[in-house]
Amino acid sequence: MAGVNGSDAGDADDSPGRADGPPEPEAASVALDGVGKTYPGDGDGGAVRALDDVSFSVADGEFVCLVGPSGCGKTTLFRIAAGLTEATDGRVLLDGTEVTGPTTDMGVVFQEYHLFPWLTVAENVGFGLERSDRSPAEREARVDEMLDLVGLTEFRDAYPKSLSGGMKQRVAIARSLAVDPSLLLMDEPFGAVDAQTREMLQRELLDVWASTGKTVLFVTHDVAEAVTLADRVVVMAADPGRVREIVDVDVERPRERGDAAFAEYVGRVRELIGAGP
Ligand code: ADP
Ligand code: MG
Repeated sequence: MAGVNGSDAGDADDSPGRADGPPEPEAASVALDGVGKTYPGDGDGGAVRALDDVSFSVADGEFVCLVGPSGCGKTTLFRIAAGLTEATDGRVLLDGTEVTGPTTDMGVVFQEYHLFPWLTVAENVGFGLERSDRSPAEREARVDEMLDLVGLTEFRDAYPKSLSGGMKQRVAIARSLAVDPSLLLMDEPFGAVDAQTREMLQRELLDVWASTGKTVLFVTHDVAEAVTLADRVVVMAADPGRVREIVDVDVERPRERGDAAFAEYVGRVRELIGAGP
């Protein structure tokens, strides 16, 4: 589906009987296939092998977290998956189609909020819809729906500078979801908010995930966050950045940090991160 506008081409079913408006696009699967990245050295510094032979996949509707020590290549992998950085080796497939650049099939959320300070909350959320073929009324309805989803309806006319960090990040999440991407890619999205807000945003993200059925690939260096959120945790090792192990988190949601099983998974992932080269 990547890069193809109107993925319904060839679909002969235009029967008028659809009760609930246009169907949500399917969640996408994403596959990393032997991804490697070498940053060339700058003058006297040598080249950096940031990623080496990274392969794993995320199934339709699955929530996968990527954890690892600082500098192990998480952001590099995130950017390659998003089509923002070119891999040196290997490829990324979104529903079987190679990713060759940014696409609206993916919603991307960075650690920094990247909100436009001169636009209101509603205008920020609707920004990506400007180029869509929705009518102004449809765009506004979509913005309202997204604001409701992240609990910011009463702040629709506020400007980013008047919002807390947690609220700004909710705006960024709403904006990434507005264009209805089939995959949500997030790089340490809650890294800049306090611990309490962070746990609240984690719960909200799980609600959004449950209600939208999106596929999520979420980067974090916070092990407890990964164990709270993920179906599977991809644990990376550094120098060169690579997959150490993939851990299935077999605990019912909502997960309680005080539970023995939770603590066991956290311990196991920490051990994997701490294990030498
Ligand atoms: P993480 O997000 O896990 O902290 P990064 O992907 O940011 O890791 O970085 C992985 C490695 O690649 C680090 O050694 C970093 O210094 C290097 N690196 C990241 N971006 C660049 C770049 N644009 N140019 C050169 N080296 C880079
Ligand atoms: Mg990073």
